[in-house]
Amino acid sequence: MSSALTRVAYAYDRLRAYPPEVAGRIATAMASAVSGRGEEPVLLELGVGTGRIALPLIARGFPYIALDVNPAMLEVFRQKAAGVMRKVRLLQADARAIPLPEESVHGVIVVHLWHLLPDWPKALAEALRVLKPGGALLEGWDQVEAEAECALQERWRALVAEEGVRVERGLHQRRLAEVEEALKRLGLKPKSRQVVAWREERTLREALEALEERLYSFTQAVPEAVHARVVSRLKAWAEAEWGSLDRTFPVEKRFFLRVTRLG
Ligand code: SAM
Repeated sequence: MSSALTRVAYAYDRLRAYPPEVAGRIATAMASAVSGRGEEPVLLELGVGTGRIALPLIARGFPYIALDVNPAMLEVFRQKAAGVMRKVRLLQADARAIPLPEESVHGVIVVHLWHLLPDWPKALAEALRVLKPGGALLEGWDQVEAEAECALQERWRALVAEEGVRVERGLHQRRLAEVEEALKRLGLKPKSRQVVAWREERTLREALEALEERLYSFTQAVPEAVHARVVSRLKAWAEAEWGSLDRTFPVEKRFFLRVTRLG
């Protein structure tokens, strides 16, 4: 596996981690939305990443199928889950072709994946295919508000635009709305709620690293040469604007859960 892929997986894990009590609240909300109807409920997560959603649920004893297309993400996940792997199955596979029989799991978890898949209806159809009757689709997402980070991203966009590259904005929220419409067209009743709100501190250096490592999907279409030039100009701009990159700024975060029950 390339060391660049592994480095990005570790950066993802470090920069996107939830504080323990937040991770616990998310796990409680998800756990209370699934029922095994007498059986031990089996959970499948599509695009499990490095396991920030999965690990607290695994710790609560749920049999867990951790699916991801990226072996580097799964490798970091495997290392973090060492010791609690007894009921965990790792599946390197594409969410648009899930290698599981139909009606085989009680809950399908999807967090920050739909916007990465232009042909998301295939993955949604697969998620619904593998769910048992009475099972639940559990979609989660973060909402982040941080003035300094916003300013940094705006500057990044302006610099990318100067290089003649256009980046799409707001895809994540738009995709969530499209998936909700698709679920309703199938006669299903998705219900959303805020699970938890919290505040974190972040350094400018961390915010820059997230852009540099392309942890945000909106950065991924930018050609490498343009990306490298823009990141270096952005760092110089941030230093001139704020002085030290080790300054911290507050980040307001919220996690939302949408539950759709089958039958
Ligand atoms: N759900 C995790 C979380 O919230 O921390 C990870 C979210 S991360 C933004 C998206 C994950 O989806 C990555 O680990 C990526 O490798 C995976 N992914 C992207 N396309 C995929 C696909 N077609 N099938 C399965 N996983 C995919």
